[in-house]
Amino acid sequence: MSASSTARAVSPDSGAPWSEPGAWPAAPGVHRIPLPLPNDALRAVNVYVLATEQGLTLIDGGWAIAAARDRLESGLASIGAGLRDITRFLVTHAHRDHYTLAAVIARELGTHVSLGAGERANLEALYGVATGERPSGGGTVGVLRRCGAPTLADAWGRESRGMRVDLDEWGHPDTWLDGTESLTVGSRTLDVVPTPGHTRGHVVFADTDAGLLFAGDHVLPTITPSIGFEPAPVENPLGDFLTSLARVRDLPDLRLLPAHGPVTDSSHARVDELLAHHEQRLAACGAAVGASGASGSTAHDVAGALPWTRHARSLTELNTFDAGLATMETRAHLELLAARGELLREDVDGAAVYSSTTA
Ligand SMILES: [Zn+2]
Repeated sequence: MSASSTARAVSPDSGAPWSEPGAWPAAPGVHRIPLPLPNDALRAVNVYVLATEQGLTLIDGGWAIAAARDRLESGLASIGAGLRDITRFLVTHAHRDHYTLAAVIARELGTHVSLGAGERANLEALYGVATGERPSGGGTVGVLRRCGAPTLADAWGRESRGMRVDLDEWGHPDTWLDGTESLTVGSRTLDVVPTPGHTRGHVVFADTDAGLLFAGDHVLPTITPSIGFEPAPVENPLGDFLTSLARVRDLPDLRLLPAHGPVTDSSHARVDELLAHHEQRLAACGAAVGASGASGSTAHDVAGALPWTRHARSLTELNTFDAGLATMETRAHLELLAARGELLREDVDGAAVYSSTTA
């Protein structure tokens, strides 16, 4: 979960820390424009600009804040273009740092926006929350209660109460991508590959002729993406994520163009590292359940027994948001172990309690 190493990582296209402002030539016909994410350890989100005779296609849109819009305009200006030259946004998933600036520009200028069909449930849940509907299952607060973390759930509820969703920054896309598409962008073909896990409707775009993978948050070069933190959570997001990693591993080895962090050479190398990381983490979660005695453990118990971030911090050292993500991440690992038959799960007073099958 640590992002500080990401912040300093140098991208080969710029020769500078990857979040350095500019429009960097990431591949022939492709520029990378990092847009700022103030107060976020991730620092920036990469927007990729694909130039064609008919205008620009952008992969991801950035967060709808003035600083990001200014950076996008100045980046485009440096390659002789402007916002009106954008004909289409292809958005990898419906998190605000990827979707909202695309939605705002689209509303203003009529730009076409495409998003993975699986994100429809997340947008609908978000709209429900914004209009005062109670989210089904209680949203993130409900998930944290089922993780056996009532105090953390209360803190999360208190801290998120002030954060309103501004529906003017969202809106539905023009096209829902179901993953069967091959999109023509100028002379190139982008295959849409569904990669649920980070969110249920995440997609990546593969240009196998040019050897490029526009990976969104599915494959990040220096951190592991959060799993299943979304308005409409799914049962086994880590299982989905690992299946999606295998799907990307089955593509040719491609240059990795991620949404956060530097461009790197090999999608296969990074997928292998991510798979190994999660197998290690699964083993650690299983061992923590086994070590806790006969009564079983909640996700919150197990998260409390594991080290977090590359500084090996304990759960109690993390702020509410990071502790919530860590607990939900642990839940995702325990749910996958239960789905594999390696742990038992029972409901005790509304919380999921996991125990070893060998006890
Ligand atoms: Zn992101």
